[in-house]
Formats: sequence, structure tokens, C-alpha cells
Amino acid sequence: MLPLVQTSIPPRETLMPKLEEILYSGYVAQGEAVEQFERKFEEYIGGGHTLSLNSGTAALHIALILAGVQAGDEVISTALTAEPTNTSIKAVGAKIRYADVDIATGNILPDAIEKSINSKTKAIIVVDYAGIPVDIKHIQEISEKYNIPVIQDAAHALGSKFNGKKAGNHFPFTVYSFQAIKHLTTIDGGALQIQDKELYEKGKIIRWFGLDKKLSRMENNITMQGYKYHMNNVNATVGLIQLENIEELVQKYITNGKYLDEQLKDVKGVELIQYYQNTEPSYWLYTIKVENREAFITKMEANGIMASELHKRSDSHTYLNDFNLELPNLDEFYSKMVHLPCGWWVTKADCDKMVEVIKGGW
Ligand SMILES: *Cc1c(COP(=O)(O)O)cnc(C)c1O
Repeated sequence: MLPLVQTSIPPRETLMPKLEEILYSGYVAQGEAVEQFERKFEEYIGGGHTLSLNSGTAALHIALILAGVQAGDEVISTALTAEPTNTSIKAVGAKIRYADVDIATGNILPDAIEKSINSKTKAIIVVDYAGIPVDIKHIQEISEKYNIPVIQDAAHALGSKFNGKKAGNHFPFTVYSFQAIKHLTTIDGGALQIQDKELYEKGKIIRWFGLDKKLSRMENNITMQGYKYHMNNVNATVGLIQLENIEELVQKYITNGKYLDEQLKDVKGVELIQYYQNTEPSYWLYTIKVENREAFITKMEANGIMASELHKRSDSHTYLNDFNLELPNLDEFYSKMVHLPCGWWVTKADCDKMVEVIKGGW
């Protein structure tokens, strides 16, 4: 079966010597390798400051704290995402106000964001679902108009672009995950790209118990709640090796995604996802809309291709459904949405086979 997601680990000859070296170096905790990973990741993104962490979920949590979200506040978010986007909002004691999605993309709709804003709104989380950038231009305009910070959850969208610049350059906070099945894996890990230098320095303190690593333990005075969220040298070493090939790796997803866009564009029964002006997706998953999704999935699987909706809507979890809002666009989008594999392990022949099976009907 052609899997929907896969873990990409560098070749043994490249990875093992470096891993062995760091494991027996005496410095496995946060140190030089972490520092190097951050600087190299900043270079890859091309702007902002990288706060490396032990998960994308930690990045979401710190972003919400830095955005000033507190208990009793509200955060506007989307229900079409992986659960951590929204469990993080609950972790700071805030309530989740879901805004509906754009039926053409499945991503949060700027108009719906604007309608959801009230006096309790302290932040907006947007998700580049399946690697498709959100409507960045219009979301930036709303953020400026109401002076509410945006946290971009780009866990699916490493290497995606807007106006030629990568995700990580468009909002005050951008979240990445380096979990096993994301574009870049450090086994587990994450990062928060922060534009403001002062907030970046504060982020460093929050990720390490509230302690300032620049001072000795005795000189320290904790003044805010901190956590144990740092990345360690072992994960950072894996990340450094991954970064050497990241452009090529992400490009494989993009090449497959673009090829499928082209091959499926006039196929009966298939509705393609539309992309916003000046955006370039990084196609973590290939997404289409079809009628009769169950039959579609059965047909693909009978032909050795995994197809799935993958994520359960966040608002279908009792704990994550604070306001029980109607989301008619999402209802329609979600009833038709299906993901197909398009990552580095998918060959052109695999793409051709998918197209042929889809053309055969379901
Ligand atoms: C994977 C993921 C996260 C969380 O990342 P972890 O590194 O697993 O904590 C957050 N948001 C989205 C959309 C994700 O897919």
C-alpha cells in the first residue's frame, strides 16, 4: 500500500557518525548543536528568530503566551487541523472560537475571522492545512485593522511561500513541527519563528523553566511561569543533517503536488483545491474534493493507494467545542475532502497510477 505519510531519515552513512559523535560527546542536553540548528533554520526560512523546541505543540503554547493570551480570553481558530492547534488554546485557559473555512481551500476564511472578533479576542491561529498557505494578505489586513496578533501554524507547510518568501516571514509567530511524519523530522521537535527580538528573548526564558540561561543558576530570579520545552543536542544533530537536504526534500512534495494538479484538473468528479494569489503550497498531503468519499477511498485502497481524511474535526471533540458554532462551509468541505500521498516516497509512476485509477471512476 502506498502510504499517505512517511518518515524521512537521512542515509545511515551520513547520520550515524554524527549521531554517535554527539551521543558520546558528553553534551546531549541543549548546547552548541541546538544553537547551530537554530541559526541554520533561520537561514533556511530567511527571516525572524528561531526558538527550537521539543514539539510543535510547545511552539503553539509559547506563541499563545507571548501573544498575551490569558485565562478567560478567546482565540479564533479553525476546526480543520490536528488537535494540538486547539488543545494549546485550552492549555492557556482561553476559549476557542472557530471561524468557518473557505470552501475553495479548506483554510480559515478571512471574512469569518473578522465576524468572530469581539472584545475578548486576543489572538488568531491560522493553519496552512495540508501544506496550502492561508489567505495571508487578507489575514494580515485584519490583524492590522484590529491589532490582534496572528499565530501561523505551519506544521504542514514548511517551505510554502507567499510573495516569494517562506512561511515564517509573514506573521509575528510561526509554528513548525519536526514530528516523525512532517516534512522535516528531528524524530520529535518543533520551532517557533518569532519576528520580534525581545519576544524571542522572552521565549527562551519560557522554554527553560523561567530561567535565563545567560546567567548562572544563583544569579537567576524567576519572574514568570516557564516550562521544559527546549530541544536537545541529539535532536538538533538530526535536524542539522536534515537541513542539508531540506530544499530537495520539500521540492519532491511540490513536484508531485503540481503534477497531480495538472493531471487531475479536468477529471470528472474531482474538484481541485484553489490556491490564493502569490502563494506556493508545499503539499504535505495532496488534497481534493470528491462526491461519495467512502467509495473513493475504498477504490483507491483496492488499488494499493492509501486515501483518507486523516484528521477528525476539532469541534467534534467535546472538550474543544466551547461555543458549538455552526460551520456550514466546513461541513460541506469536510464531507468531500480526501488526502492522497504526494511526499518524497511517491514516484511519478505512482502519480500516474493514482490518476488512472481516479479516471476509472468510483
Ligand atoms: C503535527 C502538528 C502539530 C503539533 O506538532 P507536534 O510536534 O506533534 O507537537 C500542530 N499543528 C498541526 C497542524 C500539526 O499537524
